[in-house]
Amino acid sequence: DVPDIASPIRTKAIMETYGLTFKKSLGQNFLTDKNVLMNIVDAGDITAEDDVIEIGPGIGSLTEQLARRAHKVLAIEIDQNLIPVLGETLSPYDNVDIVEQDILKANLPALVEEHFDGQHPLKLVANLPYYITTPIIMHLLETAVKLDTIVVMMQKEVAERIAADPGSRTYGSLTVAVQYEMDAEVAFVVPRTVFIPQPNVDSAIIVLNQKEGDVERPISEMVFFKLVKGSFAHRRKSLWNNLQSIYGKTPEIREALQEALDASEISAQIRAEKLSIHEFIVLSNNLIKVEE
Ligand code: SAM
Repeated sequence: DVPDIASPIRTKAIMETYGLTFKKSLGQNFLTDKNVLMNIVDAGDITAEDDVIEIGPGIGSLTEQLARRAHKVLAIEIDQNLIPVLGETLSPYDNVDIVEQDILKANLPALVEEHFDGQHPLKLVANLPYYITTPIIMHLLETAVKLDTIVVMMQKEVAERIAADPGSRTYGSLTVAVQYEMDAEVAFVVPRTVFIPQPNVDSAIIVLNQKEGDVERPISEMVFFKLVKGSFAHRRKSLWNNLQSIYGKTPEIREALQEALDASEISAQIRAEKLSIHEFIVLSNNLIKVEE
């Protein structure tokens, strides 16, 4: 019997057979622990009903576990040397498509149209390349493709920032950008020892789910994101100081800013990390006058 791709023995054998080296520049740290992989698949609650997109299959360790559970898997890998390897390691599974593409340049709606039948819930599962975690998350939030659930492994510190609550040290513009669209939760932490080669950081699995019900939206997303970004520009300063950095310090502007804060029932001396997403939305709505 052939052991799972995820076992250390098989991973080393595959790397040797194909003369592959781990490319640090592409964030190639491969998972070699089947339990962790099963936990990732469980965190996404992947069933035979689900279609799954995987980013960065590597040599196919996570892809294999997904293929056993899902209806269909589309794996998107940037490294052209891995494409023929994946063709062989995943040959026992007839529900896997592999495409060679950079996820940040990929036209996801077109890929989804081409590879899935549109009759199944669509989820995304990945052990992300750490050097581009944040751009990938932003790319996924902005795509027109509706992903019911996103389960991704990333550096533990980034996962904590994404899932942070208002008032916590790690709450910031990334938190707001993600939680504005989806509910976020850290599922579990993964030690660095289960990867080959070992990264210098520990990892965590984050689960993002589409929000249920009516999602609150600002009048202007442009004003909202400008406010969020600017409010966290100088974390140690008050909201008042950051607002003046965004909009200016003339007496007229200061008066308009104070009016917007009063109308939002937000204190000028508070720090941005205390503001909930709802409060950012209310404040951004009241700041539209200042913009004009
Ligand atoms: N899924 C495998 C696992 O869990 O062992 C490999 C994960 S490894 C952390 C990240 C993978 O993403 C690598 O295979 C790497 O080549 C690939 N990758 C890096 N940048 C990428 C990009 N821009 N688009 C698609 N894949 C990328």
